[in-house]
Amino acid sequence: MSASPLTVVKIGGAVLDRESMLEGFLDDFAALPGSKLLVHGGGAQASRIGARMGIEARMHRGRRITDAATLELVLMVYAGLINKRLVAALQSRACNALGLTGADGNLITARRRQPADVDFGLVGDPRECNAAALDALLQADMTPVLAPLTHDGAGALLNTNADTIAAELASTMAATRPTRLYYCFELPGVMAEPRQPDSLIADLSERDYHALRARGGIGGGMLPKLHNAFQALKAGVKDVVICCADAIGSLDQDVVGTRLLRDTDSDCKQSAREQDEQT
Ligand code: ADP
Repeated sequence: MSASPLTVVKIGGAVLDRESMLEGFLDDFAALPGSKLLVHGGGAQASRIGARMGIEARMHRGRRITDAATLELVLMVYAGLINKRLVAALQSRACNALGLTGADGNLITARRRQPADVDFGLVGDPRECNAAALDALLQADMTPVLAPLTHDGAGALLNTNADTIAAELASTMAATRPTRLYYCFELPGVMAEPRQPDSLIADLSERDYHALRARGGIGGGMLPKLHNAFQALKAGVKDVVICCADAIGSLDQDVVGTRLLRDTDSDCKQSAREQDEQT
């Protein structure tokens, strides 16, 4: 592994709405040393703008159902409004940001998710990331800023969960660079009791995650986030952390948010058994 380390940061929609938290996050992100890459969400903003346009948001287990009108909406909001504002804000901080979707530079191809019990519509699950294109951008000292959209290679854009994109990009890049992945949102990390600010879980194994989930301690967007985060850890990403956006400036400290732990083999078998029993 000869290439330089990479930090992949995903920023959630609620942070984009909190001006002072966002400004602080952008200062800290721009100042991060070495190669880095930002992935952003924007679901709350898309829902709000959609409501003004008469497009109702429909969700299932934290994931958006995307019909043709919703795809137009998220294309405008994610790839336009939010992406370009973030790029301009980073440029003003001397960070050479380049705003992209998964279609640009063929960065992320995806397969449209086939309808099962739920038809998510124009939603894609990533198939392949273009590591060579990303390497070229990073080597040119650019900071890619990814909107959560992919393409199928046959002309269709697909709405894709931003947490999944961050995990896929980090997993792909981890094959050639030591890669760290940070999911930044508005809370301190994964909470034992989401309404109690002092209930931060500092370390979380996959086994503990399944136990917490089974007792209803995890809901909404945190479910796909943790699923993606553990996938990335298993794919070889060195460090996966879920933390508050205002902690990104202090990543070198010991306790920053929730750090995911690799299960031991016996834990893995046990948690797989428990999952089977639940389904
Ligand atoms: P993002 O802002 O990164 O897009 P999501 O909104 O998809 O994140 O998921 C984060 C949300 O998950 C939090 O705002 C919180 O309301 C919810 N959540 C559910 N369970 C938990 C938990 N145990 N700890 C922290 N957040 C949780």
